[in-house]
Amino acid sequence: MPLSEFTLIDRYLAAQSLTRSDVALGIGDDGALLVPPLDQHLVVTLDTLVADVHFFAATDPERLGHKALAVNLSDLAAMGALPAWATLALTLPQIDEVWLERFCRGLFDLARRYNVQLVGGDTTHGPTTVISLQAHGFVPPNQALRRDGARPGDGIYVTGTPGDAGLALAAAYGQVAVAAEDRDSVQARLERPEPRIAQGLALRGIASAAVDISDGLAQDLGHILERSRVGARLDVGQLPLSPALSRTLDCEAAWLMALTSGDDYELCFTVPPQQSAALATLAAAWDCGCTRIGVITEAPGLRLSRADGADFQLERAGYDHFR
Ligand code: ADP
Ligand code: MG
Repeated sequence: MPLSEFTLIDRYLAAQSLTRSDVALGIGDDGALLVPPLDQHLVVTLDTLVADVHFFAATDPERLGHKALAVNLSDLAAMGALPAWATLALTLPQIDEVWLERFCRGLFDLARRYNVQLVGGDTTHGPTTVISLQAHGFVPPNQALRRDGARPGDGIYVTGTPGDAGLALAAAYGQVAVAAEDRDSVQARLERPEPRIAQGLALRGIASAAVDISDGLAQDLGHILERSRVGARLDVGQLPLSPALSRTLDCEAAWLMALTSGDDYELCFTVPPQQSAALATLAAAWDCGCTRIGVITEAPGLRLSRADGADFQLERAGYDHFR
């Protein structure tokens, strides 16, 4: 006998252990009652994952639950926000209790780590799995990390090692062969991204602009350039490549992967020269690492240069291969 929608909600979605004091009423009524702090801005973000578009239908549901929240927490991180609440719209082709149990475990494990309470949502039947999650967080007025604050002379930095999620995807499509010892770590970079919340919070008052990398470093940095009406020069030789990426691809292909592949959920941000020492002190404590990859310029557009000063072209043979 299939579960009713309401049993499903009670049994799985309302079963989280975490309760926040700023939730006056959570799951179970027509709406949640929330108590936002009076002295903060509320940051709201939403991301949707569609089966066969954003994930393989056979993906481990625990990882999917993690990722649905992680991609939204990544947006909060890129705003410099402290996470608080989430809502979840689930469209499912059928009720699969094993899937739901695992999905919720992945979701709630990550939620607990960042003190995020699921406060409501919607559950519907539909032709394919669609996971739409909205996250809410707080940031003091004037301290949000926006895309429009970069100025010429600011350094450009990235956390972690971009390109790994793209490598996992290329491997899944059989386009590249990842060595056996790298396979799990590369796969995890695609399926279990770690939101850079601590980094986003630390960058308040330090970074002049920030974005999280969901669509590729070059493209997402492009959003900062557009919004800030500036350009950038990146030194491709400075791109932080993971050992797995360096081992798998030659350096040109690895640069291309790091610059153009999505789903990394690292932070790309700019820091004025007078804050670079403060950043170095902060970043020394970051497990994920933090690398200076270029500089903001007055001249518009994104220029990619090699160590010898020659241009590196993004459009080259083989580029479509990985798309
Ligand atoms: P209504 O019909 O009034 O919109 P629902 O019957 O859809 O309410 O939902 C009942 C309760 O369960 C509500 O509090 C709603 O927020 C919550 N809920 C439903 N689906 C989800 C979900 N996928 N995740 C979290 N909470 C959910
Ligand atoms: Mg109602």
